[in-house]
Amino acid sequence: MSPVNILNADLHCHSRVSDGTLAPEELAARAQANGVELWALTDHDELGGQQRAREAALALGLPYLTGTEISVTFAGETVHIVGLGFDADNAALVEGLRRTRGGRESRAREMAEGLARVGIAGAYEGALKYVGNPDLISRTHFARYLVEVGACRDTQEVFRKYLTEGKPGYVAHRWAALGEAVRWIHDAGGIAVIAHPGRYKFTANEEYALFSEFKEHGGRGVEVVTGSHSSHDFVKYADTAREFGLLASRGSDFHSPDESHTDLGTLPLLASGLSPVWEALAERIHRPS
Ligand code: AMP
Ligand code: MN
Ligand code: MN
Ligand code: MN
Repeated sequence: MSPVNILNADLHCHSRVSDGTLAPEELAARAQANGVELWALTDHDELGGQQRAREAALALGLPYLTGTEISVTFAGETVHIVGLGFDADNAALVEGLRRTRGGRESRAREMAEGLARVGIAGAYEGALKYVGNPDLISRTHFARYLVEVGACRDTQEVFRKYLTEGKPGYVAHRWAALGEAVRWIHDAGGIAVIAHPGRYKFTANEEYALFSEFKEHGGRGVEVVTGSHSSHDFVKYADTAREFGLLASRGSDFHSPDESHTDLGTLPLLASGLSPVWEALAERIHRPS
C-alpha cells in the first residue's frame, strides 16, 4: 500500500461563515480531536474563515490547506467545485467569489415568497436568524427555520418537501461557469476538485461531459470518499479518478453536530492505488512550526 493514502485528511467542511453551525476554531478543535492529520475548511463561495481556520489549526499542531467550495451551473444543474491549496489573497479569486455570492439575497427573498404562498410566513427573517454571514444566506438556513417552526422534522425532510426543484421554496439560480471556477482556483495556485459527484442527477453522458470539460479547463481532482457517497460510490469514483487521470480527495462535508451524519475525520481512508490530491499539494500545506 502506498503510505500516503493512510493519511486521515479531511478536506471538506463548513463553518458559520457559510452554512455550517460551528466557528472555524471549533471545527479545528473537533478535527484534531477526531484524529484528522490534514484539514481544510471549504466554506461555500467565501474565504472569510480561512485565516481563522489556518491559525486555529496551526496552534493545535494540525497541518492546513486553504479551501473553498464554489457553486457552478453546468448543464442546467448546480455542481460544486472544491478548491484547495490556493492563495487566499488572490484578487481574481476573491472577486469571482464575491460575484458568485451576489445573487443570494434576491434569491432568498423569492424563496420566502414561494414559501409564503404555501402558508409559511416570515421565512426570510426566520432564515436570517441562522445566518452567520449576511452575504451567504443559503437553503440550509431556510431549512433550519422550517424545522424550528415545526413544518418538518429535520432538514433533510425540508429539502425534500420544500427546497428542491419543483417544490414551493425552490428558486432556480445561475451560479459561476465551470471554466471560471476552475480558472480562479488554478490561477491562485490551487487545485480544483469535483465535489461529491455521486450527488448529481446527471445521465452517464452528462457526467462524462462534466469530467471531460472539467479536465479541459485544467481541473485536476475528484472527491472519491465523501459523506455524500455510498460505499458503491467510493468504488465507482475511484474508477472514474483512474479513468480520467484525476487526483483523489477525501472530505466529510461536515456542517453541524446536530445535522451531519458524517463527522470530521471518520470516513474510510482513500483506497491505495489512487493519487491523493494532498500529495500534489505538499508544498501548499501550512505546517505547524
Ligand atoms: P444553496 O447553496 O443555498 O443552494 O444551498 C446548498 C446547501 O444545501 C448544500 O451545500 C447543503 O449544505 C445543503 N443541502 C442540499 N441538499 C440537501 C439535502 N437534500 N439535505 C440536506 N441538506 C442539503
Ligand atoms: Mn452546505
Ligand atoms: Mn456541496
Ligand atoms: Mn460542502
